Amino acid sequence: MHERAHDGPNELRDGVRIARGQHVRSLRLGLVGQCDVVEFYPDGRVNPVEYKRGRPKAHRADEVQLCAQAICLEDMLGKEIRDGQLYYGKNRRRHDVVFDTELRKLVEGTARAIEKCLLSAETPKADYVSKKCDTCSLIDHCQPKIINQSVSHWFMANLKSQILNHNGNV
Ligand code: SF4
Repeated sequence: MHERAHDGPNELRDGVRIARGQHVRSLRLGLVGQCDVVEFYPDGRVNPVEYKRGRPKAHRADEVQLCAQAICLEDMLGKEIRDGQLYYGKNRRRHDVVFDTELRKLVEGTARAIEKCLLSAETPKADYVSKKCDTCSLIDHCQPKIINQSVSHWFMANLKSQILNHNGNV
């Protein structure tokens, strides 16, 4: 679903220009990215739409991502974008997101925190919380369930399970 939204052709529908996979950047925040869909309305309104597989979440990460896209578009186009939409595959609905001061501050704080991580080459500690981690696309890289174990503990546990599997197959 996400790939279809992202990689499909640009089109003109009822006067609305629909751009897919639009590359964006903000020099002010030091962000680059790609929007799933940006709709350009005849009255000048610009509406970014981000597609998500799941359902609306308890945290604001999706809103932060969408607002970051809007700030990038604002920097590039020189015009204010007041709101956008998140589409969730589970309920097949678009949800309006208003880019208010609080959300914009959250985006700026997140961008600064990412910059700090990059400069220090240190990533934040990963805490496993099933609600957020089980649907996170980074879980295979992040491995939050084992992050608090020592490498030797993780290695021994894996070795033990390999041996048990091997013995079970003999
Ligand atoms: S899997 Fe890692 S990156 Fe994803 S929500 Fe959990 S801690 Fe954060």
